[in-house]
Amino acid sequence: MRRKSDKDRASSKDRSLSKDKHAKDRPQTPLLQKQIKLGMIMESPPVLFIGSPTQSTGALISGRLQLTPLVSESIIETMIMSLECVTTTKRPVQDRCRECLTNVSDLYEWKFLTKPKVLNQLDGVQEMPFSHMIPGHLPVTTHGHIGSLDYYLHVRARTSDGQEVEFRRDLIIQRALVPGPDKHSIRIFPPTSLQLQVTLPSIVHPLGEFPVECKMTGIVSKKDDTQIRWRLRKLTWRIEEVESMISPACPKHAGKVGGQGKGVQHEQTREVGWEELKQGWKTDFTEGAVEGEFKAFVDAAMKPNCGMDSPNGLKVSHNLIIELVIAEEWSSLRKPGNPTPTGAARVLRTQFALNVTARAGMGLAWDDEMPPSYEDVPDSPPHYKNEHTTIQTYEGDDLHLDVDHLTLGS
Ligand SMILES: [Zn+2]
Repeated sequence: MRRKSDKDRASSKDRSLSKDKHAKDRPQTPLLQKQIKLGMIMESPPVLFIGSPTQSTGALISGRLQLTPLVSESIIETMIMSLECVTTTKRPVQDRCRECLTNVSDLYEWKFLTKPKVLNQLDGVQEMPFSHMIPGHLPVTTHGHIGSLDYYLHVRARTSDGQEVEFRRDLIIQRALVPGPDKHSIRIFPPTSLQLQVTLPSIVHPLGEFPVECKMTGIVSKKDDTQIRWRLRKLTWRIEEVESMISPACPKHAGKVGGQGKGVQHEQTREVGWEELKQGWKTDFTEGAVEGEFKAFVDAAMKPNCGMDSPNGLKVSHNLIIELVIAEEWSSLRKPGNPTPTGAARVLRTQFALNVTARAGMGLAWDDEMPPSYEDVPDSPPHYKNEHTTIQTYEGDDLHLDVDHLTLGS
C-alpha cells in the first residue's frame, strides 16, 4: 500500500546521523585537538504529557549545557542545539540506505551565541541554561518492531579552528491519558440469542493487571417441557499490539515506490498478554446468565509499547480479544438438575480496543496542579472492526473429553 507523505515528513531535513560516528573515526592528531568538551545536566523531570494529544498542555524541559575548555584558550564561534525527532524504520524501501532507514526533523532550535565566546581553561566549566515547552501533541517515544521514534537534544559547536564538536542526549517523551469512566460494551452473536456485556477500564498500563467484568445472557432457551442451555467451559483472553509504519523512500529511491514523498505501509501484530481460564464464573440457569470478573494484564516481559499515533506514519494500538468456548446441554424442565451434554460446542470471539498508556505516577512535578478532567479523553473514533463478533463450531479435543467425562460421571 502506498500513501502520500504528510507535511511533517516533507519539512524534515535530509540529514543523516553519521556525524558522531565519523567524528570518532577521524584520526586524532595534535593539530586537531578538540578545544572544548560538551555535556548536559537536565533539571526538569522526565517528560510526561498529561492527557490526549489534543488536550495536553505539554511539558517544560530545562537544563544546563556544560562547556569544558580542553586548551588554555578557545573561541566558540557558533553553538546551536536542536530538538530532533528521529524516525527509524526496520523495513527500509532500499536495504542499507541510511536515508531510507532514518528520518530526522528539527522541532526546535536554540542559538546560544550572538557573537563568538572566548573560554579560558582557568575559568573551568562554563554553563549555559536552556528551557523549552515541549508541545503536548507530539507522539511519544516508541521502540516498536518495525519502526521507532526517538527524540534527541543535539548540540553542535564550532570552534575558531573550524572543528565541530557534537553532543547528543536522548529525551524520552511519555504520555499518561487521564482515566475516565469505565467502558461498557455489548456484543451479540447472531443467530444465537447470546449477548455478552463487558466492562473495561478506560485506560490500562503496560505494567500491572486490570479488571474485566463479563456477563453473558441468553444462555437458556426453553421449548415445551425441555430446555437447551449453553455452559461456559473455557474463557481465553489475549492482548494484541498492532504496530503499523509507513516506510518513507529517500529522494534517491523514490522511484521504487512511485514518486517522491511516498512510502510503503507495513503492519505487524504480536501478542503481549494471554491467559486461559476454566473457572471463576457463576452460572445461573434460572436467570439465564453467566457472569464473572477476571484480571487481564499486559505482559511487561514482552516490552509492550503504549498506544500512539504519529503523523509521519508510525502507529501503535492494542486490542483485548475474548474467546468463550460454550458447550450445549439438554434437560427436561421437570428435572433441570440432570442435564445431558448434546456434544455441540461453539467458540464465541470478540474484541475491544484498549488504551494502553503510561502511569501518571511520579513525573507530575510540573503539571500536578492541573486536576484530572474527564473531558481530556476524547470519544474514540468508531472501530467497526472491533465491534465484530464471530461464532464458530468448537473443534478442540480437550473440551469433548471434559464433556464425555461429565456424561459418565453424572
Ligand atoms: Zn534510500
